[in-house]
Amino acid sequence: MAPTVAYFSMEIALHPRMPTYSGGLGILAGDTVRAAADQRIPMVAVTLLHRRGYFRQRLDSSGWQQEEADEWSVHDFVTEQSARVQVVIEGRMVHLRAWSYEVKSPSGATVPVYLLDSDLPENAEQDRSLTHQLYGGDERYRLCQEVILGIGGLRMLRALGYQKIGRFHLNEGHAALLGLELLDETARAAGRTTFSPEDVDTVRRQCVFTTHTPVPAGHDKFPLELVERVLGRPEIWATKNIFCCDDLLNMTYLALNLSGYVNGVAKRHAEVSRLMFAEYQIDAITNGVHVPTWTSPQFAALFDRYIPGWREDAFSLRYALSIPPEEVWQAHQQAKRALLERVNNNAQATLRGDVLTLGFARRATAYKRAGLLLHDVDRLKAIAKQAGGLQVIYGGKAHPRDHDGKLEIQRIFQLGQSLKDDLKIVYMENYDWSLGALMTAGVDVWLNTPHPPQEASGTSGMKAALNGVPSLSILDGWWIEGCIENITGWAIDPGSVDHDDRRAADAAALYGKLEKAVVPLYCNNRSRFIDMMLHAVALNGSFFNTQRMILEYSTRAYLH
Ligand SMILES: *Cc1c(COP(=O)(O)O)cnc(C)c1O
Repeated sequence: MAPTVAYFSMEIALHPRMPTYSGGLGILAGDTVRAAADQRIPMVAVTLLHRRGYFRQRLDSSGWQQEEADEWSVHDFVTEQSARVQVVIEGRMVHLRAWSYEVKSPSGATVPVYLLDSDLPENAEQDRSLTHQLYGGDERYRLCQEVILGIGGLRMLRALGYQKIGRFHLNEGHAALLGLELLDETARAAGRTTFSPEDVDTVRRQCVFTTHTPVPAGHDKFPLELVERVLGRPEIWATKNIFCCDDLLNMTYLALNLSGYVNGVAKRHAEVSRLMFAEYQIDAITNGVHVPTWTSPQFAALFDRYIPGWREDAFSLRYALSIPPEEVWQAHQQAKRALLERVNNNAQATLRGDVLTLGFARRATAYKRAGLLLHDVDRLKAIAKQAGGLQVIYGGKAHPRDHDGKLEIQRIFQLGQSLKDDLKIVYMENYDWSLGALMTAGVDVWLNTPHPPQEASGTSGMKAALNGVPSLSILDGWWIEGCIENITGWAIDPGSVDHDDRRAADAAALYGKLEKAVVPLYCNNRSRFIDMMLHAVALNGSFFNTQRMILEYSTRAYLH
């Protein structure tokens, strides 16, 4: 029997009504766990309960983001376990319980997910809220959550009876303190009170680390003085080559130092990561999406008719080319109607089913450049005229402390309000799992314009591909692998440009592609457009899925 994999992630999207995730990292974690269940890979997952979710986003009348707690009814989804464990934080004993959620696959296999919760009456008031809010609070709050996830998480697995775990998979660096607990366990098992270099080797053989972003802010670092205040143990933090660099505990380096297998989430991302962390071996396993989760009901019905068995065998989507084009178009129009109904109702908009519609939704933060399409509004208006109308649906939350991200949302929102006639722009509130599913299936073209090389992978374009929606995207992340020009979508590629001119050059390349490729095809050559839709499914849906991804993790990281 294959060894059990324990998957640690600060966020996991388990159900559309459980806001235990913020975005791509959590969606990927959920899709990973769902794929592991499908493939009967023995896995158990650990995360935090996040009773108040990440946050619910409202936009006020000026388009400024308001954040509200996203409470959910815990008892409807998860089951309390009787096991209790403790971690010490700032010298106080913090008691933890776990709630379980069963991820069930039609294969019959189940992956249990344990959600840690410090909201217990025996805890000090301030500690009861430590697991309430995903990415909430300050640096100290964040470190406490990482102590609970990494150290508390392993203790909880042991208390639940998981004595034999073959691999620990750290989804991003947030759980890196798991390595410290493993070192302590290893030393204790050998009857020692301090860990040795051999213990480090033992731990490394068990750990797998996936890094998810080339953006420096995405890598947690904590001042050693804070770490000592929270965790004590002043003697260990100065250990060079494990914990310490420049008076900081860097969670990425900790995870790198204690993992025997490390990967980035797309081929380009692994290359960039190798430049960032030159002393480490970094492999590439390109992300995917869980096919049954992200296929719209309309396309699912189509696949049921023409590709029997597609839910169990994502690779069989390669046969999509034989689906009759009229039926593809019909299914897409239905998915589009479902989206437009939601948009028109929720945002008091008047979008139409027969107008070319672009979708853009991701975390609102500077490098994602949501506003690139709006760089030259007059030129975009001319394109809208050329196309007989153009509709753009936006979505995405800014982190509560990301002021620039909020400004970007406001700018797009206000521009949308000032437009009329041919060009319509709507910013949808509260982008989440269900809106994401509607958008990636219901728009005609999926747009992505990050500042390269900062997009590690991106997965929303993969969801779009599954639903026959071609991407128009900057060549970065997964799109370098997924783009076959005029077949699966289009690259926005200005050629080589100086850093300072990048934005204008990318915008010009984007407008050029819309004018010369996307609009003529959509408006004047519908059968070729539908052919591209089918190639998006057949070439990209069949490959950029978590079935392929989890099998790669199995052979390269779990079974080695
Ligand atoms: C898929 C998804 C993401 C990730 O999309 P990216 O393309 O990686 O930005 C984020 N949030 C939600 C709600 C999603 O469904």
